[in-house]
Amino acid sequence: MKLSNRVNQIEESGTVQFTLLIQQLRRAGKDVIDLAVGEPPYDTPTAVIESTKQALDQGMTKYGPVAGLQELKLRLAQQFEGCDEKNIIIANGSKQCLYTMFQAICDPLDEVIIPRPFWVSFPQQVKLAGGRPIFVDTRNHQLDIDNIEQAVSPKTRAILVNSPNNPTGAVYPAHDLEKIATLALKHNLYIISDEAYSSYVFDGLQPESMFMFKEIRRQLIVTRSFSKGFNMTGFRIGYVAAPSDVIAALNKLQSHVTGNVCTFAQHGALAALGMNKNDMAPWCLDLERKRDYAYGKISGLFNCIKPQGAFYLFPDVSRHLDNGMTAADLAKKLLEETGVAVVPGEEFGMPGHIRISYAVSEDKLVSGLEKIAEAL
Ligand code: GLU
Repeated sequence: MKLSNRVNQIEESGTVQFTLLIQQLRRAGKDVIDLAVGEPPYDTPTAVIESTKQALDQGMTKYGPVAGLQELKLRLAQQFEGCDEKNIIIANGSKQCLYTMFQAICDPLDEVIIPRPFWVSFPQQVKLAGGRPIFVDTRNHQLDIDNIEQAVSPKTRAILVNSPNNPTGAVYPAHDLEKIATLALKHNLYIISDEAYSSYVFDGLQPESMFMFKEIRRQLIVTRSFSKGFNMTGFRIGYVAAPSDVIAALNKLQSHVTGNVCTFAQHGALAALGMNKNDMAPWCLDLERKRDYAYGKISGLFNCIKPQGAFYLFPDVSRHLDNGMTAADLAKKLLEETGVAVVPGEEFGMPGHIRISYAVSEDKLVSGLEKIAEAL
């Protein structure tokens, strides 16, 4: 039987597919070092677990408000000057936030400008909303503002910004973010700022949010998540901060799709917000150390730009691609010959590269990178 054209035009998430493949290989008895999936290696904090259990014990297992627990929304609104609960919605991870948001802002063939390389789900989600992703290449993994401006057309609805970036780990400087803000104002566009990795910036940098530009707040949609910053990937809790009419639209959509995010998981998220910053600092320090180690190893093998955030390296592997070999072939070869999984750049719209996640235990990182070096 026929499936819809809408679903036929998209691909399954490459990063999720890799996770499944690795699980299958492990079940078949193969020893795999997973440098593919983007997931922090640390335990979910005890305070989060305890609070989640307590919520279960107290019977917080029923429907809640679609947009999220009021207490949680109020706490999250405090991160955004001048915002209140009407400016926040909680959804099942940043992924659902972004999906619903594209549904809310795109009419058929509306264009969304996406810097390339990009996280796998952005273009697919735009297409599912009937829109058209318009890719603009980055330069040395940084935004090319002139090219972004040239890509603006009468159909452009939004510019997407993702810093710290997945897959490159690039952190965009404030002066470039400001230029994007100016562009959005000039052409009356939404800015979608995916800040899922804002907890992880290195080299003494401060995480910069598009929210710092007051004059664009009426057209700014920020998404953040508990997944990466609090090691709560399985809880599926992300949130959007946006003008109240956008939040009302997301609420309407979400009321037909999932309703509220798991009630007791939201109580876990509340506990996460109560944590002391000092309890979280070691994760960032550990990732910075691993970034240094991984970058040192990988830049001896490939051309690699040193990232300043998130937990990925995105080297150019073309010097190891002979006779028509692609990055996907190289990733397959590494997995088959060494048991080390990485994600080929094709998934992120950038052939000739691979994404390496260094958010793994130290022994896995050392041995995974050793094995890649030996195989090459
Ligand atoms: N965002 C993570 C990654 O890129 C998790 C997988 C996903 O949802 O794409 O690996």
